Amino acid sequence: MAMITRGGIPLKEVDPNTMQSRKIVGLYFCGEVLNLDGPCGGYNLQWSFASGYLAGGLE
Ligand SMILES: Cc1cc2nc3c(=O)[nH]c(=O)nc-3n(C[C@H](O)[C@H](O)[C@H](O)COP(=O)(O)OP(=O)(O)OC[C@H]3O[C@@H](n4cnc5c(N)ncnc54)[C@H](O)[C@@H]3O)c2cc1C
Repeated sequence: MAMITRGGIPLKEVDPNTMQSRKIVGLYFCGEVLNLDGPCGGYNLQWSFASGYLAGGLE
């Protein structure tokens, strides 16, 4: 079982300010579905929370 995975969405296909797809307007991504991972120790949870905050337009 993987503790951390990369979901397959390249970061370059997503606007980092809003997490909106650069290919499909109105489609947003966050967390492990994107190709980003860090060492164990909270970085992956922080990424999931922060990207979810942006994708939800909560800033
Ligand atoms: C055993 C383990 C230990 C870990 N320890 C750490 C750690 O110490 N520090 C750290 O930073 N990271 C850790 N991680 C990684 C971290 O938990 C993940 O990176 C993070 O939870 C990913 O968040 P996410 O929201 O992208 O995905 P998830 O947390 O997997 O959330 C996805 C959600 O979508 C739901 N879902 C799936 N399919 C559907 C569907 N069709 N319809 C509706 N809902 C659906 C799932 O039920 C789930 O609730 C650990 C992971 C594991 C497995």
